[in-house]
Amino acid sequence: MTMIPHAELLSAATLSWLEQPKLLFINNALVDNLDGSRIAVLDPATGAEICQVASASLGDVDKAVQAASRALQGTWGATTPAERGRLLWRLADLLEKRSQIAQELESLDVGKPLLETLVFDVPQAVEHLRYFAGWATKLYGQSIPSSLPGEALAYTRREPVGVVAAITPWNFPLAIACWKLAPALACGNAVVLKPSELTPLTALWLAELAREAGFPAGAINVIVGTGLEAGAALVRHPLVNKVSFTGSPRVGREIMQVASQDFKRITLELGGKSPNIILPDADLHQAVEGAMTAMFFNQGEACVAGSRLFVHASQSAEVLAALKSRAEQIVLGVGLDPSTQMGPLISSQHLERVQGFLQRATADGAELITGGKQHGINGYFLEPTIYKATDTLEIARDEVFAPVLTVLEYTDTEDLIRRANSSQYGLGAGIWTSDIKAGIRMAHQLKAGTVWVNGYGMLEAAMPWGGFKQSGIGREMGSYALEHYTEIKTVWLNLL
Ligand code: NAD
Repeated sequence: MTMIPHAELLSAATLSWLEQPKLLFINNALVDNLDGSRIAVLDPATGAEICQVASASLGDVDKAVQAASRALQGTWGATTPAERGRLLWRLADLLEKRSQIAQELESLDVGKPLLETLVFDVPQAVEHLRYFAGWATKLYGQSIPSSLPGEALAYTRREPVGVVAAITPWNFPLAIACWKLAPALACGNAVVLKPSELTPLTALWLAELAREAGFPAGAINVIVGTGLEAGAALVRHPLVNKVSFTGSPRVGREIMQVASQDFKRITLELGGKSPNIILPDADLHQAVEGAMTAMFFNQGEACVAGSRLFVHASQSAEVLAALKSRAEQIVLGVGLDPSTQMGPLISSQHLERVQGFLQRATADGAELITGGKQHGINGYFLEPTIYKATDTLEIARDEVFAPVLTVLEYTDTEDLIRRANSSQYGLGAGIWTSDIKAGIRMAHQLKAGTVWVNGYGMLEAAMPWGGFKQSGIGREMGSYALEHYTEIKTVWLNLL
């Protein structure tokens, strides 16, 4: 009789995978770690243990990086662009075919509703693999006319950066892993992926799928471990050429400092406190629905959550009433239960941290519209929470990373851009209006990597993704990502 939480909601295939030992994936093999230490992976809906995972330390990180480095000198380094594309496409096909396992593992591990894994996490992962499969054969250089005396042929090549350390957070583990793996592999790099120690399951599962798809040994390695030990060792490793990191600004800053020692290439996708602006002429019903999704998708544990909602003072009573009513209808529960609309927060530590924000918001004078309390007796559930506040309060400035919406009133439309831009972050922004020209003008003035007009959160492999200001450095997705996974080499040939 299995002790895996919610076993009755899991397919036989998922249960069977969960029951296997969870080791490190290095050189296409599952290998135990050197010191035998384990990390317990917990179910956020109950706090019960799902399974234990081998935890990498310095020596294990070295093994994984050496494997990636050797792969670049061996079969993987010699794999043609067309074959790299075929491998990525095959992995996408396998992932799509086994999507039920991916959905169940992600929902169990992160606590998110199964429906969200069906419409977002798994299709995101599949589409990234396919999109970048197409790029593998299109990494062109240029032939550039030289003006030097004599005659020469000069051209550029795009070459892989080398060993890529991909470090991911716990909120979208599978999708974000593929945002990094797909372009890195399409460009011919070898990857050591370190998922968050809180949600390592889909990354480990995907590694086995990649082996089945035919990726040669060492091209993809997955090591689970703490940030302080495995993450830090990976960033410091001299054979790592590039770090692609998604996570908190605090850790991003540390990585940037460490990477500067030997000038490792870095891309950072960090936090946000994104403004979502309802202009007075907006379709209010559409805007409220949009604001709900922008904030409460994935329990509000989304970097791009529209957590600062600007509403005109003349409409604020109506909008707040509609938001309150919608928030109070959200069904909280175990992610795997098909009736669940919102899951728990990721951990007891995160819940405590969020409760600290809520206590300070009240002490600071923010008006609680709804929510604010822990929900149920098991797990780490928080009621969908809405405050009315002013711009300078902590709750309106700092990233809470939870289902906590802050509504800010305005009367002066002219001053809105300044207020919306008055944040250390610049990841996303939303505008709701029936005047499309005004919406587009505003979109051009907002300091954010992505701006949505009359929508929120659309995201696809072809569109660049990343932040202005302290929301990050560089772009993932689209052709822009290729810049970060290739080095440009100029070759000269003297023709005289
Ligand atoms: P985190 O920074 O705590 O951890 C992210 C990853 O970094 C984990 O794998 C962790 O183990 C590792 N890590 C921790 N310390 C490290 C160190 N010293 N060296 C190397 N690696 C280390 O972030 P989190 O709590 O997992 O995720 C939440 C944060 O991620 C939020 O701030 C959120 O906004 C951000 N995020 C951003 C995006 C984006 O696309 N911009 C997407 C998702 C999440």
